[in-house]
Amino acid sequence: MKLSAIVLGLIFSLTATAQTGAAQSEVQAPVTPNCISQAEMSEIASDFSQFNHLANKEYCHDGSETSNLLASLMFMRKNQSSPDMKPSDDDLFSGKFATSWYQYFIGRINEMEVDSNCPKGVAAYVYGFGGNTMYVCSAALNDNFSALDRASIFMHEARHIDGFPHMTCSKGARKGLQGACDNRISAGGSYAVTVETYAQLAKFGVTLHPALRAYARSSAVIYADETFETPTRVNREQQLLVMTKTKDLHALSLAAGSKTSRNKIESLGQAPELGRIVMRAQHMVLFPEDRTLPAAYMFTNNVGTINQSPGDAFTEYNAQTPAQKSEWVDFHVAAQWNAKVYKTKIQFACNPRSADTSELAFNGPQAVTMLHLNGYDRVARTQYVMTTTGDIYEFGCSESLKPFLKVSTQKVDQDYTRIHKIGSTLVGLTTDGSLRKITGSTSTTLSTALDGQIYEIAPREIFSFFDSAN
Ligand SMILES: [Zn+2]
Repeated sequence: MKLSAIVLGLIFSLTATAQTGAAQSEVQAPVTPNCISQAEMSEIASDFSQFNHLANKEYCHDGSETSNLLASLMFMRKNQSSPDMKPSDDDLFSGKFATSWYQYFIGRINEMEVDSNCPKGVAAYVYGFGGNTMYVCSAALNDNFSALDRASIFMHEARHIDGFPHMTCSKGARKGLQGACDNRISAGGSYAVTVETYAQLAKFGVTLHPALRAYARSSAVIYADETFETPTRVNREQQLLVMTKTKDLHALSLAAGSKTSRNKIESLGQAPELGRIVMRAQHMVLFPEDRTLPAAYMFTNNVGTINQSPGDAFTEYNAQTPAQKSEWVDFHVAAQWNAKVYKTKIQFACNPRSADTSELAFNGPQAVTMLHLNGYDRVARTQYVMTTTGDIYEFGCSESLKPFLKVSTQKVDQDYTRIHKIGSTLVGLTTDGSLRKITGSTSTTLSTALDGQIYEIAPREIFSFFDSAN
């Protein structure tokens, strides 16, 4: 039988345990109140007979799988379409799927069954031939996903019922992963629905918590970038996110070429804590310098955070003691592999379809920081780390899914605490808090108003659909 599933962008982060707390109920409050009225329950049961036994009274959420299914249905029911939703100038949002999500969904699915034994990376699936049952994987029903994510996932699955199967990408972030791509977004298949639903919530979800909208915006871009064989047009500009020692966040735009144009710095509010930023595709995760604090999604412009775990590794980190946490140096999240960089070793997860991990030790020097000598690249199989002896090591997972760690021939002209790429410019953060433009094994000053005050840098993109005024 043919399965049509959704393979998640966060392939390695499916089984993380939940973090609950005030922020979660706060962010979901506008769309999923704590209880569903009897009238709503009765209507839901008329569309999904599996809830008949719950139709006669109010239903209050208890965090169970049933509760999460119902919360997702409620999210779809309450997600209002606005008449003012203009399509984007690029491929992010056509509006094709913007009218009532719930009506669309019940036109195709009339039963939801929980599967506690799904393969790694799969959130939900339907069978390609006949039937109106959607199977939802247990891993997608914990608090690692919000009702917002599940609503997007459910819409994706419903689209399969219209006859849109997936293909295997021949290139890009999901190269070779069976059924993890569609040909092109304009065909309007299931991954187009994924992109459109997230993009709609990010741009037009005015009743949503701003941190959830920021999360949805990153999610839309990740799926647009990574799930299509034919590249998706997303109008964007690359910047550098700069965090100062006083936790202020800034966007740095590099002046193009000429000596007369100047670099531009724009304030983006404050970080909740001083810390290192780990990129998970478009998402930023903050690892606070204060090791008693948890790692969490970080957004700009003071919108707060969400309580969803950014994934397994982050949940693991958050459960550790401060002493254990201080062994972590960095974490690299590629599309199909990841690596936890500890002081003395690296732990690799090289197989996107398996939970297996393996470790390689530095045997002498200790890891100091990751250097993105080719930029933060989700596809690349090699990444770099600076060590205490000043040697740069390269590590990664080979095409045959074998981990490697060895001294690199790459050199830089001085110690950097971070290196990232903006466009074609490699930018290094020096140990004294300033920026330099790096070219091979030399560098030149990249002077800004924040010289000497910079603590951390990260890649950042802005998008014309989300960031332009209209
Ligand atoms: Zn699918």
